[in-house]
Amino acid sequence: MQKNNVISFVASDKTQKMMSEELNWCMRDKTPQYAKWQAKDGDTVITLYESGKVVFQGKDADLASDFWITTEKINSGKVDVKNSGDKKETKKEKKEYVNPRIYNSSSIGSDEVGTGDYFGPIVVTAAYVSKDNIEFLENIGVKDSKKLNDDQILEIVPKFIKQIPYESMILTNKEYNDSYSIDLNMNKIKALLHNKVLYKLSNQIKDYEYIIVDQFAESYVYFNYLKQSSNVVRNITFFTKGEDKHLSVACASLISRYIFINEFNKLSKSLNIILPKGASNLVDEVGKTIVKKYGYDKLKEIAKLNFKNTEKIKESLDK
Ligand code: MN
Repeated sequence: MQKNNVISFVASDKTQKMMSEELNWCMRDKTPQYAKWQAKDGDTVITLYESGKVVFQGKDADLASDFWITTEKINSGKVDVKNSGDKKETKKEKKEYVNPRIYNSSSIGSDEVGTGDYFGPIVVTAAYVSKDNIEFLENIGVKDSKKLNDDQILEIVPKFIKQIPYESMILTNKEYNDSYSIDLNMNKIKALLHNKVLYKLSNQIKDYEYIIVDQFAESYVYFNYLKQSSNVVRNITFFTKGEDKHLSVACASLISRYIFINEFNKLSKSLNIILPKGASNLVDEVGKTIVKKYGYDKLKEIAKLNFKNTEKIKESLDK
């Protein structure tokens, strides 16, 4: 059954510029009235209007728009997303089908954390769950990974981390700030990191049946980001909300969050300031305190500078 999703938001100049560059390759020759351009990326039609409004339309509109909504959040500090189209069907599809054959297989899964947080690193993990470990993980409550808070994560992860082979990578704030550019955006960073941990783990584990990635971009976009990489892991099955569906992704998600929480707490301790997660106004306030106490350069080591928060922190200090 085809569903038609329509998702829109108003894009800042910076996001418009990034979109125009990144989607240039799939732009249509003809443009609707009042539009700057229209592009067709996979099954999704994307239209940027002169008003700055950008509209994503098609069955994968949620997936295609997700990255740009995150980008707009980074660029403006906020974004007002409108979701229309065939709502009834979207609701029905919320109870998503989980393929029992994949669920009960031995699989490697990967997931990342920290991409929406101003403070702290990005952590990506690939984890291997063999058939024999499925029941054990179900029993200790790994399946509900999304619902677990920080304290629960600190409790549950030590219960399985020795039994589950995994590979994690931490991208420090310094590394992130040095590498971020139009060419290396958040989605490309994610793709490169996922590929690295998947490559490492899939070389150690020989009897996996599936490699599952918690999907953040359409698969051809993912592989497009890896065009210049060597050692690309190709036999991937992508799932949105993968951590709800498959235990290897759930483990990868939990281990990533576990490492992130510990890194985050270390940062807080070293600054003697409790850092907030996310990218809210509270983050700006804490950022200002940090700059007053330690100087602006400190942000390079502890925050993602391309987020709008940096500007807001700077503005207040100029006054
Ligand atoms: Mn994810």
